[in-house]
Amino acid sequence: MATEQKMRFAPVGSGFDLPELENGVLDLWEREASFDVLRQKNSGAPRYSFIDGPITANIEAMGVHHAWGRTYKDLYQRYKAMQGFDQRWQNGFDCQGLWVEVQVERELNLNSKRDIETYGIDKFSRACRARVDRSAAAITKQSIRLGQWMDWDNSYYTYSDNNISHIWSVLKLCHEKGWLYKGHRAMPWCARCGTALAEHEMTGSYKEMTHDSLYVRFPVLAEGRGSDLAKQRASFLAWTTTPWTLPANVMLAVHPDLDYVKVRVVADGATEPELLILGAKVYAQSKWHNAEVVGTVKGRDLIGLRYAGPFDELPAGKTAAPAHKVIAWDEVGEAEGTGIVHIAPGCGAEDFALGKREDAPVLVPIDENAQFVSGFGWLEGRDARDVAHEIADDLRKRGRLFRELAYTHSYPICWRCKEEIVFRVGDEWFISMDELRPKLKEAATKVRWLPSHTGDRMQNWLDNMGDWNISRKRYWGLPLPFYTCANGHFFIIGSQNELRERAVRGLEQLQELHRPWIDKVVVSCPTCKAESVRVRETGDVWLDAGIVPFSTLNWLTDRGYWKKWFPAEFITENVEQIRLWYYSQLFFSVVLTGRAPYETVLSHEFVYDEIGDEFHKSGENFIDFPQAAERVGSDIVRWFYMRLNPADKVLFGYNVLSEVKRKLLVLWNTYAFFVTYANVDHFDPAAAVVPARERPLIDRWLLSSLHRLVRDVRGALDAYDSQTACLKMEAFWDDLSTWYVRRNRSRFWKARSERDSLAAYQTLYEALTTLIRLFAPVMPFIAEETLSLLRRGAHRGRPGTPDACRAPRRRTGPRRAILGWREDADASPEAHRRVRRERSRPRRFGQRFRAGGDRQGRAQREGDRDPRRGGGPGEGDREAGPQGARTEARQGSPARAAGARRGSLPAARRDDLGRRLRALGHRGPHLARRRARARGRTRRGRDGRARNEGHPGARARRSCARARAPPEQHAQGGGARHLGPHRAPLRRSHRARVRALRRLHKAGGAGDELHRGPP
Ligand SMILES: [Zn+2]
Ligand SMILES: [Zn+2]
Repeated sequence: MATEQKMRFAPVGSGFDLPELENGVLDLWEREASFDVLRQKNSGAPRYSFIDGPITANIEAMGVHHAWGRTYKDLYQRYKAMQGFDQRWQNGFDCQGLWVEVQVERELNLNSKRDIETYGIDKFSRACRARVDRSAAAITKQSIRLGQWMDWDNSYYTYSDNNISHIWSVLKLCHEKGWLYKGHRAMPWCARCGTALAEHEMTGSYKEMTHDSLYVRFPVLAEGRGSDLAKQRASFLAWTTTPWTLPANVMLAVHPDLDYVKVRVVADGATEPELLILGAKVYAQSKWHNAEVVGTVKGRDLIGLRYAGPFDELPAGKTAAPAHKVIAWDEVGEAEGTGIVHIAPGCGAEDFALGKREDAPVLVPIDENAQFVSGFGWLEGRDARDVAHEIADDLRKRGRLFRELAYTHSYPICWRCKEEIVFRVGDEWFISMDELRPKLKEAATKVRWLPSHTGDRMQNWLDNMGDWNISRKRYWGLPLPFYTCANGHFFIIGSQNELRERAVRGLEQLQELHRPWIDKVVVSCPTCKAESVRVRETGDVWLDAGIVPFSTLNWLTDRGYWKKWFPAEFITENVEQIRLWYYSQLFFSVVLTGRAPYETVLSHEFVYDEIGDEFHKSGENFIDFPQAAERVGSDIVRWFYMRLNPADKVLFGYNVLSEVKRKLLVLWNTYAFFVTYANVDHFDPAAAVVPARERPLIDRWLLSSLHRLVRDVRGALDAYDSQTACLKMEAFWDDLSTWYVRRNRSRFWKARSERDSLAAYQTLYEALTTLIRLFAPVMPFIAEETLSLLRRGAHRGRPGTPDACRAPRRRTGPRRAILGWREDADASPEAHRRVRRERSRPRRFGQRFRAGGDRQGRAQREGDRDPRRGGGPGEGDREAGPQGARTEARQGSPARAAGARRGSLPAARRDDLGRRLRALGHRGPHLARRRARARGRTRRGRDGRARNEGHPGARARRSCARARAPPEQHAQGGGARHLGPHRAPLRRSHRARVRALRRLHKAGGAGDELHRGPP
């Protein structure tokens, strides 16, 4: 377009179509291989080590909640890249375990382990791998859309043989240290998934449920001390919310110090009175009729009494009957139930422990699918979760049921398939934590936890966690490398190489270290050479993720490389990872190195929808990220998250995003204002700089604020505090728009002198280019677009000047991406030394934004440098010494005044402004009319329709007329009086200005609606 050829800065459309802008930038980055150039540039420089927590590759679309953590990751890596640090940029995918299996079962319409085995484990594993690969590709694409820069071709996958091999080596080490054991104990069990679950998988997996709760009579047997009671038809009254456990009852527990009452009662429908024994307090709170207390007794006096179990007639019950007795247990309370607890050691962890203490038999009533096993009569083959009513009926018929009540409580569910959990005793593999616990705690204290309470939560978790159950009875997962030979020797294969060495046969069919192929490899026992096969269990997925600081850094194969990048300086994830990924990594690292694998850990909270409900993948409220990106733009989502406190729960929705967009429009309009007028006035960023001392006070106030901003934002980002950084930047661009631009508007469109106008342009140009670089790591798309256009303008018509990134000069060729470049310096040894120096110094406020900032800051003060380089004056503040401080003190007053005035602007008025801005959208009001308004001749009260009326020609004619009118007064602080001898007439004729404006209107130039005068 001819117009564009003549304009220094590409005209800004009046709209703010962020998704379109972002897609354009993505094309640019791809075309220019910006990321590769950046890596190359920083390669060999001082290192910044970030380790990515693997995202589960089990989703088709990332939810908007994923964008929070991933933006933190991108922000800090980009920030460090802009400072020149060399990084690995490795993304990770979590690929194994129940997550994937359950999803693939759904896809294949399988619903049990039996189904999977019929289908074929090999085909099932293939399907799991295919799903992971599909999902990883989708996540990669969507993360790129988020603006995330990673070395996507080099992502790590936890299903890799390398990852598995690394875990094997640590398991072997644990065995050598004596921490690994096979335990026979009661575990939470998901019947649908057919596997036990670990403690850390249970936290948070609870759901409000209503169950049948039963009050059941356990008649006292006429043995020993019980004879008297038996004669009075006495029964213990116990209560349960899991009726399916009653057939496995072995004992009853009471608290030895509590009072129990004997109540004579005539039950509903009964004729004869009976005696019921229950907690005194519980009885006192209940309202029984036809009942009287005939005696009180301490719990300890009940201990040892024998009773008849509820299902003693069943074959299994017969084995338990001899063990039925009342035992003492300090955990018995009176808050709910009857003060007497039914104990089934085969159906619960605590019950199991009590059974062990009393040396009682353990009845395991259900199998892996929660179906009753043989020995339980009519219950055999029935699902434990479906039999509550029938058990109640059966007990009622036999006179054992006292009462049946629906009971709503918070009950554990499987975190993966959401089915309710049962408890089951089985053989599982554990890592003992007793010896490791103090070491883990100690290592965790050396980590910087952000927010700080997360450190306490980690300590709390370490205090309370039990031994780690690492085995799962599943298919697609880490194969546990445990072998027992025919002669009973147990041994562990510690690596892929060892497997090869020990293999007797089956190696030829081994395609990968997964079931079923690994199961077919027969190895020889190191002790007796007997042939041995692997146990069938797979590993906990948190083993997969925990090994990452070692497996991805080639611990086994290249220790030098590992040393270069270990430990991670920074990791960040959702706060739930305290008991998951943070913990499992800590475990591996302490076992292998004795220290934590990370230095700073930033955790963020959960994301909810706008009314505070959880996002459900299948629910109506789910917002997938690609959809949000195309609707509002990634940068808005990024800015939204980064300006939040990570410790707060987030309510996410399009309404809150439009608030963010409103804020960004303020920034965008300032940028558009600059471009519009800079083009009209042919502002040349390369023109000789007007020295700061010759600029008006308001210019110096703005520059001083800018320098403070650089210092504050850098300080905040160095401390991983993006919220402070973002809020400071927002406050700055508000001031920039509301005070600087508004107060100085006339200097841009009708300067008293060319030099005064130039000073205003230079000030605004520096503020914008610096601000953009500050927010570039948070909003890379907007930064890329605006900064590269501003810079391109700066380089036009200046042959022989290499631009900041040393790219070939092009006057009209395609745009160059700039975020891919370290702008401060090229990869020269001097640059490296500088970065290294900076890095070795303790971090503090006021450090340079860029390594070259001091030079630029000085240049700024000397007022003789090319402003094209922009200002990175953080350190300059410090070096400025007393003079700088004086300047800042002097300039404090306008800033304060500005603040005060801003405060006085009625909130309603500001909202009104924002609403109008939003309404403007693509159709900015007529530029000239806005100018007229700026002069105080506003035709207020006209609505948007009126503005858009009229022939374009007529609008242009009106614009001429208004553009000619003189300003009513000069804006405060914007005085040509500072400029003395440089007073000069406008260099362009009025006619030329009008022509330029007309062209602009045709091009739909953006306006300065925002920068109208105060009301
Ligand atoms: Zn399950
Ligand atoms: Zn052996």
